[in-house]
Amino acid sequence: MIKIENLKKTYNSTIGECKALKGVDLEINNGEFLAVMGKSGAGKSTLLHIIGCIDKFDSGSVIVDGLELSKLNDKKMAVFRNKTIGIVLQDFALIPEYTIYENVSIPLLFSKSVKGKIKRKEAVENALKEVGMYELRRKKIAALSGGQKQRVAIARAIVNDPAYILADEPTGALDKETSGQIMSLFSELNAKGKTVIIITHDVEIASVCKRIITIEDGRIIKDDKR
Ligand code: ADP
Repeated sequence: MIKIENLKKTYNSTIGECKALKGVDLEINNGEFLAVMGKSGAGKSTLLHIIGCIDKFDSGSVIVDGLELSKLNDKKMAVFRNKTIGIVLQDFALIPEYTIYENVSIPLLFSKSVKGKIKRKEAVENALKEVGMYELRRKKIAALSGGQKQRVAIARAIVNDPAYILADEPTGALDKETSGQIMSLFSELNAKGKTVIIITHDVEIASVCKRIITIEDGRIIKDDKR
C-alpha cells in the first residue's frame, strides 16, 4: 500500500524556486490500476519519482509497503527500489547496443533477492515470456520497433517481481494500436496482482485504468474511481 500525506516538494534552480507539489494526500491500495493525469508541469512526474524512490521530498509523509521513505538513507532506498518498484519511461531508457536479454538482466546485477546464475536466468526468461519477447531475446535493442522496445522496458521493470509498477507516459512515443497493446500488457500485470500507476495525457489510455487522479498546479483536484 502507498500512503501519502501532505507531500510537498520544491525545486530550487538558478531561475528561482518552483513549488512542484503543494500538499498531496493520496492512498493507493495494493492491486490498484491508477492513471495520473494533468497538464504538463502539473507535478505528475515529481509525484511518480518520489513514490519510485528516485527523488526526495521536503516535507510530509510517504509510506510505501510499510516503509516511511524519508527515513531511508540513500543505500537503503536503492535496495528498496530495486526490490519493490519497477519503473517504465516514455523513451524506454534501454541500452541500444546490448541485446534484449542483457538489458532485462541489468536490475538483477544489483538484486539482493534474486541470487545465483540459474535463478537469474529463470527470472529474465520469465519476464521476457510475460511480455512476449522471449523468442527475440538475442536481438539488439537498436533493431526493435517502439512497441517492442517498450515491451523490453516492461520486462526489465518486472524482472525482480516488484509489487509496484510505475510508468511515466509509457505510450507517449507509440502509435494508437501499439499503445493499446502496451496498455493490455499493463492490464494483464495488474490482473496478476501488481499495483500499476501510469502517467498519461491521453484520456483513452487513462480510461483503461480503474482509477484516475488529476493533478493541477501541485495538487490533486480530482479522484475518480470506477
Ligand atoms: P509533469 O510531470 O506534470 O509535467 P513535473 O513533475 O515534471 O510535471 O514538474 C512540475 C514542476 O516542477 C514544473 O513546473 C517543472 O518545471 C518543475 N521541475 C521539475 N523538475 C525540475 C527540476 N529538476 N528542477 C527545477 N524545476 C523542476
